[in-house]
Amino acid sequence: MENGDSFPLMNSLPSRRHFLKASALAAAALPFIPKFSLAAAPKRKLGFALCGLGNLSTNQIAPALQETEYCKLAGIITGTPEKARRWQAQYNLPDHSVYSYDTMSKLADNPDIDVVYVVTPNGLHADHTIAAAKAGKHVLCEKPMEVSVEKCRQMIDACKTAGKQLAIGYRLHFEPNHQECIRLVREQVLGSLKFIEAGFGFAIGDPAQWRLKKELSGGGPMMDVGIYALQAMRYLSGEEPISVSALATTNDKVKFRDIEESLTWQMAFPSGVLANGNTTYGFSGINRFSANTDRGWLALNPAYGYHGISGSRSDGKTIRLADMNQFAAEMDDFAQCILGNRPTRVPGEEGLRDMKVISAIYESVRTGKVVNLT
Ligand code: NAD
Repeated sequence: MENGDSFPLMNSLPSRRHFLKASALAAAALPFIPKFSLAAAPKRKLGFALCGLGNLSTNQIAPALQETEYCKLAGIITGTPEKARRWQAQYNLPDHSVYSYDTMSKLADNPDIDVVYVVTPNGLHADHTIAAAKAGKHVLCEKPMEVSVEKCRQMIDACKTAGKQLAIGYRLHFEPNHQECIRLVREQVLGSLKFIEAGFGFAIGDPAQWRLKKELSGGGPMMDVGIYALQAMRYLSGEEPISVSALATTNDKVKFRDIEESLTWQMAFPSGVLANGNTTYGFSGINRFSANTDRGWLALNPAYGYHGISGSRSDGKTIRLADMNQFAAEMDDFAQCILGNRPTRVPGEEGLRDMKVISAIYESVRTGKVVNLT
């Protein structure tokens, strides 16, 4: 899963041919996503420094970098010297490309590094993003953007002040099956959207991990995987919610003393579309969305993995576009935005919008009341 606990879809990386085919499909299709032209950006590889060498960096991002056209691994930022040595040997990185969290200001002296990819626990994203921006680097920051609306704003401000781009690692914005669903809803191929149901959860393992500590995570499964279901609701509807209500429960009060174990929420959108979401760290088996229209439906199940996303439609057709490397596509797109001086489709403002809704969801859990977002 997100933390590598037991995710069944996390298998080998797709072929380069599949990646290019899927990227072309994604780029060609969609109204939700600004189309980009591969020819528009100068062909150069930007240097990426990975900040935080945990599970995601090790198993997904560093391998994905090898598949990109516009990016290369040019540095690492880590608090663990032994890890640094291992990465240096594996990726042939010179000593001057290795930094600790405390020496990030020195990134300013390294012209080989253009982008810092922040892959640390959620509650450290602002510190690391701001340090990278102050050192004159563009920032790609993992989701969720941070643990509060205020921190998200600070990150946006720091990158603006530095004149650098900030993108959030919303990999599914580059995934062709999600884009196809957005197209089907926007073009009303199966009718006019009425309801969305979406959920993502898994049984979390190690009770000592940072995901269970509110200070570092900002919350439970809602912050970690529920955000994918929230994203789906927002990009399928193409609207921002006007009100939310939510309930949370905790069965294991020792393991989940700091955060919710399971959470369910409802949202209303301005057009009248209603959405119902759920997320959990208590059990596996939820990884889906469905969108009902006035005369049909579409659904992805499984919906949010790195591979194997597929779905169905009420007209009997399947939704199964080619697997691709979502991280490679996300990084290549950001590099092209920087090279072509174009805004990213997943800016800090998009992370901020999610954080505002998540804050309202937690407020509703606390107060037991419907929270208006207008
Ligand atoms: P992880 O625990 O495997 O790695 C976190 C890294 O941060 C480790 O190298 C750790 O040493 C370092 N770190 C620095 N300071 C730390 C501190 N005070 N406490 C704990 N660790 C500290 O986590 P991960 O699964 O790699 O997740 C990192 C980020 O990536 C999170 O924001 C997570 O939400 C996000 N993520 C995104 C996806 C995705 O599909 N886009 C998937 C997994 C994780």
